Amino acid sequence: MITLQHIKKSYKLGSNELQVLKDINLEIQPGTLTYLVGESGSGKSTLLNIIGGIDTYDSGTYYFENEDISTYSEKDLTYFRREKVGFVFQNFNLISHLSSIENVELSMVLNDAADSKKRALELLKLVGMDSYANHLPNQLSGGQKQRVAIARALANNPDVILADEPTGALDSENSIQVMEILRNIADQGKTVIVVTHSTELLHYGDVVIRIKDGEIINEHVSNNATNHLSLADKKLKNRRKKIGYRMSFKLAYRNIKSKRWRNFITAFAAAIGIIGILIISALSNGINDKINSILNHDVQLESLNVSNQNNSPLTANDLKKVNTINGIKDTLSYNAYTVNIITQNNKRATASGEGFLPQKYEKVYKKDYVKYGEYPKANANEIVIPERLAKELFKSPKKAIGKNVTLTSQIMSLNELYPTITKKVTISGILQNESIKFLDTVGISYNLSNNLAKASDGFEGNSLMFIIIPKSDANLDHMKKAVSKAGYSVKTDQENNGEITNYVSLASIALGSLSAISLIVSSIMIGIVLYIGVVERTKEIGILKAIGAYRKDIRRIFICEGFVIGLFGGIIGSVVSWGLCLSLNWIIINVFEKVKFDLFQMNIYQTISIILLSGILGLIASFIPANMAAKQVVLDSLRYE
Ligand code: ADP
Ligand code: MG
Repeated sequence: MITLQHIKKSYKLGSNELQVLKDINLEIQPGTLTYLVGESGSGKSTLLNIIGGIDTYDSGTYYFENEDISTYSEKDLTYFRREKVGFVFQNFNLISHLSSIENVELSMVLNDAADSKKRALELLKLVGMDSYANHLPNQLSGGQKQRVAIARALANNPDVILADEPTGALDSENSIQVMEILRNIADQGKTVIVVTHSTELLHYGDVVIRIKDGEIINEHVSNNATNHLSLADKKLKNRRKKIGYRMSFKLAYRNIKSKRWRNFITAFAAAIGIIGILIISALSNGINDKINSILNHDVQLESLNVSNQNNSPLTANDLKKVNTINGIKDTLSYNAYTVNIITQNNKRATASGEGFLPQKYEKVYKKDYVKYGEYPKANANEIVIPERLAKELFKSPKKAIGKNVTLTSQIMSLNELYPTITKKVTISGILQNESIKFLDTVGISYNLSNNLAKASDGFEGNSLMFIIIPKSDANLDHMKKAVSKAGYSVKTDQENNGEITNYVSLASIALGSLSAISLIVSSIMIGIVLYIGVVERTKEIGILKAIGAYRKDIRRIFICEGFVIGLFGGIIGSVVSWGLCLSLNWIIINVFEKVKFDLFQMNIYQTISIILLSGILGLIASFIPANMAAKQVVLDSLRYE
């Protein structure tokens, strides 16, 4: 039973106060069809909205099934709307991107009904609309829309159906149909309150209440309203169920689909940032991979590179000190030079040079770098020169092999300038270009290198670096600590390589940050598009709230939308990036003969992470619009045109 006592409501318009409802006292029995009639502006809608819990009043009390509604919080009121009342509006207020059955289902989904689809279809059948279940609202006539709206109002099996001029937009034939349906509903025990300003159909009602200027002036009870079913008092208990994620995503998806171009463009904007980041990552993957494959190619044994902390040359004393450390198989000296090669025809070329380890330790400079000829024998005065240099000096690389040349060398040191030493040497082989750490280096046989160092004044028996070969890989860490403890600077090959790859990573982080900025910009764009969506969908938000959606539910719908758009952008970006990388690799390999590897290497984990990141950014971007939507006032939203 609905009981209103001394309900008053007024609006302040400037300094004037407009009394919309003046002391309304009213009792409405369960299972009756009550009409509220009166002229336009008399306060009918206001009264109905107060009964339905979507409008407030200034004073008085409102009992619904013996509960005082005025004590209800916003959440309780939402639950009350969802469980106890069903609204039917003059302009139908169906959600335009959902089909008939989905509009009906929506109310039920708010309540987590398991068999919502089946029930929705039954309700559509009840109003004779089951054959239009899959039609969208704009594919239906006004009367049909109103019948779907009535089915929706019934969805949660409410005690009260409130209809505000349900026939106001219908012709007389459809009006009769709608009134008959409402009459039936009342006959089945529900309380039906209908606002109307038309007087022709009043004979359907049990009670007719006349309102004028905010006051009840007449209450007419017809004969057939004597004995009605009394509904069992369902105690209001707030269960606070939310719209499930399935429905949130469905609503988000439907809406995204209905604005597909706008959302596609937004997602594409997000994709551009993603593409930037993925392509840069792919490039850095490719380069790092190449560096590692060059540096660690066929590594047979790990080794330690030992030098003085101030880069001064190591002496025979240092050699003794280092060799006391356990686990050493061999300690080799290493020097780097700048070299000058003079042919017998007096042609000259300058390059960098390095002492090559004896061939048994070819892990450092490998046999397969020697393209033609032989690796320089440790105890012979032999050198290997890069292909480029051989071409320069002898026209063809193969002609260089076995040639005697004059080698002028100078030790390369950061600390001191060393004298140049001249030696007659033989070219034993040709190195493939850029075989060593991207440099074209002349390789000098091990003993020759040591002799050159010895011959440098003040450099006797010294070397810039020792290369320690351990007896086994397992000793490496222990040895490294020992060498470091002895006061030397020590690095493994891996650490040396790491430095180079670090630079590549740094560069890609710098480039990646630029793309990250575009990712942020596109997230803001998602936020703006959602904001526009919130404004456009004010009415839909009002409908959702009127049928009992909590703030949380509304928020979730928009957050889902942001997430989906972001995710979509991520997926578009990833697909485009993969395509770009594959084509770029193909082009590079086919156009540049020298490159024989994939420069752009996409990584599946990076791709998945970035898709998720994009979704999360979309989700974050949706927070503000989602909150705005959640806070909208029901009645204002419903009135919004
Ligand atoms: P009815 O449904 O009987 O036509 P309403 O209940 O909609 O009447 O409105 C009653 C009166 O309250 C009208 O004079 C209307 O102008 C006024 N009114 C309704 N809503 C507002 C509002 N938000 N601000 C100011 N006046 C309002
Ligand atoms: Mg009205």
